[in-house]
Amino acid sequence: MIYTHIINFPYLCQLRFTFNQKLLQIQTITLIMHFKDIPGHDKEKTFLRQLVQEDKVPHAQLFLSNEGYASLPLTLAYASYLLCNNRTQEDSCGVCPACVKSHKLVHPDLHFAFPVTKKGDLKREETTSNAFMAEFRNAILNNYFLTEGDWAKAMDSNTKPNINVRECQEIAGKLALQAFSDGPKIMIIWLPEYLGKEGNRLLKLIEEPRDNTHLFLVTENQSMIMPTILSRCQVVRVNAFSDEEIIAYLTTKFGNITNLDQVVRLSDGNLAKAIKIVQGNDADYSELIINWLRVAFKGDAVAMVELVNQLSGLNKDTIDDFLHYCLHFVREHSYYMATNQRPRLNDKELIVSKNLVQFLDFSKIEKFTEVIENTIFGVRRNANLKVLFMAQTIMIGDILKNNINNYVNTINFAIQ
Ligand SMILES: [Zn+2]
Repeated sequence: MIYTHIINFPYLCQLRFTFNQKLLQIQTITLIMHFKDIPGHDKEKTFLRQLVQEDKVPHAQLFLSNEGYASLPLTLAYASYLLCNNRTQEDSCGVCPACVKSHKLVHPDLHFAFPVTKKGDLKREETTSNAFMAEFRNAILNNYFLTEGDWAKAMDSNTKPNINVRECQEIAGKLALQAFSDGPKIMIIWLPEYLGKEGNRLLKLIEEPRDNTHLFLVTENQSMIMPTILSRCQVVRVNAFSDEEIIAYLTTKFGNITNLDQVVRLSDGNLAKAIKIVQGNDADYSELIINWLRVAFKGDAVAMVELVNQLSGLNKDTIDDFLHYCLHFVREHSYYMATNQRPRLNDKELIVSKNLVQFLDFSKIEKFTEVIENTIFGVRRNANLKVLFMAQTIMIGDILKNNINNYVNTINFAIQ
């Protein structure tokens, strides 16, 4: 049995312990609010600078990218450029009174809204970004490439964040205020995908703009943005970082990196991930995915219950990280099978991929990917995690054993 030589793994709880320990090793990254400090993205920068220079900044823009791309830093640099009193052709000056404030995220005409959880004694429905502004400012000032997972950890909460009704009311209220300066007023909504159906409340703001106000929505998931919002915003697509851009950034920030090639290969255009790998904060899920496949394949009831309990007991953001890792792994595994060339996997993962070739071949990968995507969908919609993971584990076992006729969509069942 192939699995016998690839599965002597520690338990998941040990993995979690290591992961949590690594999270403590946080290094400070110098704040960058200038275009010049963001690697590459010349096309996007030129476009945004022109909008400001020609006084054509739209009322509502949607910055669209994936996690770890440059959308948030670009939006911050763009906002600073727009607010700057003494901008050059290339960038904000960094020293004028507006820059001094905007570069510290304390400019009175630069507002933020983002997903939050409950805080302290505040009722959940009353908790908005205002309650977490200090944490948010600190998180960005420490890590310009803040990810959704980083933010969930910074809030130190296991409950699911969202952007609630009160937040929408506050967004409208802040944009209705008289500007403190003579310049524009800006609202940056980070991760508007968390608005859900509350997004409708912003339509009026988008459709009936006030003078000199700008709404910048920064999303990492276009599919979760309401079409009514998407169609009313100018969409700015922000591309992945190239390998060369990641190399240049890491070398400048961290000096010589011994395994630079591997870091770049693994980061796959995601600079936030590259930074985490260099800092030793990147979680290693390779053992967990193999354990999941092994248990699913063997179908031993006791082992399945044990694994399901471990998986469902993880922090939701860790589960989300892990499931996205599964998608990354299976994509790279496919690439390896198709080309026999080195995929974006580390040495340990590559061994796993090679050992999996006869079990997770092309005929099964599509179904496996579908199961993982459905699991992500279920987790984000607060499915019962134990029911969900048990159903998906059985399904993965069926797929691996070619009993695909047993495949049923159990997501709705788990959500009910
Ligand atoms: Zn300035």
